Amino acid sequence: MNLISELVASAPAYGELRRHIHAHPELGFEEVQTAALVAERLEAMGIEVHTGLGTTGVVGTIRYGNGTKSIGLRADMDALPIQEQTGVAHASTRDGVFHGCGHDGHTAMLLAAAEYLVDMPKSDQGKGFDGTVHLIFQPAEEGLGGGEAMVEDGLFELFPCDAVFGMHNWPGLPVGQFAVRSGPFMAAQDIYDVTVHGTGGHAAYPQLAANPIPVVADIAAAYSEMGRTARERSAVIVVTEMEAGDAYNVIPDKAVIRGGVRNFDRQHQDDIEAELKQAAQQIGEQAGLAVEVDYRRNYPVLVNSQKETDIAVEVARSLVGEDNVDAYAKLVSGSEDFAFMLQEKPGCYILIGGGGEPGTPFCHNPHYDFNDDIIALGASYWVALTQRCLG
Ligand SMILES: [Zn+2]
Ligand SMILES: [Zn+2]
Repeated sequence: MNLISELVASAPAYGELRRHIHAHPELGFEEVQTAALVAERLEAMGIEVHTGLGTTGVVGTIRYGNGTKSIGLRADMDALPIQEQTGVAHASTRDGVFHGCGHDGHTAMLLAAAEYLVDMPKSDQGKGFDGTVHLIFQPAEEGLGGGEAMVEDGLFELFPCDAVFGMHNWPGLPVGQFAVRSGPFMAAQDIYDVTVHGTGGHAAYPQLAANPIPVVADIAAAYSEMGRTARERSAVIVVTEMEAGDAYNVIPDKAVIRGGVRNFDRQHQDDIEAELKQAAQQIGEQAGLAVEVDYRRNYPVLVNSQKETDIAVEVARSLVGEDNVDAYAKLVSGSEDFAFMLQEKPGCYILIGGGGEPGTPFCHNPHYDFNDDIIALGASYWVALTQRCLG
């Protein structure tokens, strides 16, 4: 691997910082200590810092030369509401809160890159950059839309970027490899609640009531069947919650199912929303009960732009070699709120291998831990990308 030697040298210290963040995780929009730590580190490097964007977001800005080009490099800072079960020495000190997605590592890698970038233009090695880099540390990636909050809070008005780049560690992909694709890459995530309104009553006299449970069960079965055929459209439809009644002898007056939809295409998204609503209404009508469908679009599909993806692939290949960068990676059915930034600016979100050994726990598994061995590579990617975009 073609790593930057200074980043190899600083990686152990950033590994230590990563493990400190891991031991002190904070949930989305509550990253007060993490944000303070990030701001303090950036300030100590002499970097101009802006805090409190999108609640707890932090942006550090490095300018050099007269260049007018600018890019944003983004890391996420939040942890998950999971009880850690790794048993490692740096395990979470907070009950039920856990860096189970590696955002501790993303934060550490971007800080490592920042330390190198801020000194790089001053070096006489002739490999600095000319322009502006915004280091974007965002809150609340895990389902709460911290990326959207930063955009709404004026991220790109305050910190204009010609392009933005994101990166996620990926267990299952060997260390020393990257995977990416241009166009839609990660799924849109929608959620729904279906409520069937019946008439409650005594279980001994069902003829006097209108039981919503069989109706909601029919809707759940219909959605599951639709989920099976949705795969042809690279979509996922799933029922994950059911809520009805609380006694053996009482027919409830309402029943609810909830679940999610993922897909990679706006047209499919519109079609699926319409089909789910129609199926529920039809089943309700046949039973003579009122049905309410509340369908909400949570995260949009993440779309990488062609030019920036080509740049990301070229940069990654310069570090790990041609064969270790998959430029036509499979679609990922997970969602990612960096998609909100990519709706505003062209850019590229790339996956960096976190270890491909069989049995490596995937993100959100209580046994998962970020692999510190990739810190130097991830930081080298950020630096090489900056040189390529602003060189
Ligand atoms: Zn996650
Ligand atoms: Zn994540």
